Amino acid sequence: MDAEILLNVNNVEVVYNRTIQVLRGLSLRVPKGEIVALLGSNGAGKSTTLKAVSNLLELEDGAVTAGQIEFDGTDIASLTPHGLVRRGLFHVMEGRRIFEDLTVEENLTAATFSLSGRGLPITPFDLVYSYFPRLYERRKGLAGYLSGGEQQMLAIGRALISKPKLILLDEPSLGLSPKLVEEIFTIIARINAEQGVSMLLVEQNAAVAFSVASYGYIMEMGKVVIDGPVERLVKDQDVQEFYLGLG
Ligand code: ATP
Repeated sequence: MDAEILLNVNNVEVVYNRTIQVLRGLSLRVPKGEIVALLGSNGAGKSTTLKAVSNLLELEDGAVTAGQIEFDGTDIASLTPHGLVRRGLFHVMEGRRIFEDLTVEENLTAATFSLSGRGLPITPFDLVYSYFPRLYERRKGLAGYLSGGEQQMLAIGRALISKPKLILLDEPSLGLSPKLVEEIFTIIARINAEQGVSMLLVEQNAAVAFSVASYGYIMEMGKVVIDGPVERLVKDQDVQEFYLGLG
């Protein structure tokens, strides 16, 4: 029996500016409690897939023109991005998008605004700091002065505030040293295991994505070309050659 499916993306097509088709029948699933990796070369449509799921395409004059996306049993087409956050879906965008002129703690506080008042649960800051002790040390400092790795930690920490069921993570390794990448991915794996948060992880770095994910999808030109459990993908010759650099 399959695990319960939290996110179901079915045959989705996305067009920007009414003319540029970027997703061409993309399908993928994220089961509850798992980390699923979405890989592919530059421009394949990975970030577009995440924006389609979090309903952010409109901001860039993009639209889903075919297919369905269901999160936790509900069609997302009828939900706003904020509505999705309140239902437990949080998108950590590429480039982190933290508030640089606010302190670390104020960034976490800002994440509570759309939740408090609606009686929605909020993760205690102490729990966030338990995963990211460096954020605790720097909680009174401006977020703009954090290192790239610390800003990525804050972006993930802020996602935790809303007690998400699913986090969409766009290239958390981008621009970070190998040591920091290892540190952040260790924390990502712990958050998944201890908090039961599912993740859809977009990465250029296949090896690091496979170190935490249970299942992987590889997309090219707007659709999935290879998918399977990670233990099978790492043995696939094409995957080794083109994505793991082992050819
Ligand atoms: P990368 O790792 O380089 O970000 P990606 O797989 O995440 O790649 P996307 O960012 O989803 O790819 O982009 C897929 C394609 O869609 C690219 O050809 C890109 O130029 C195009 N695209 C992305 N955003 C827009 C937009 N707002 N308007 C028009 N075209 C866009």
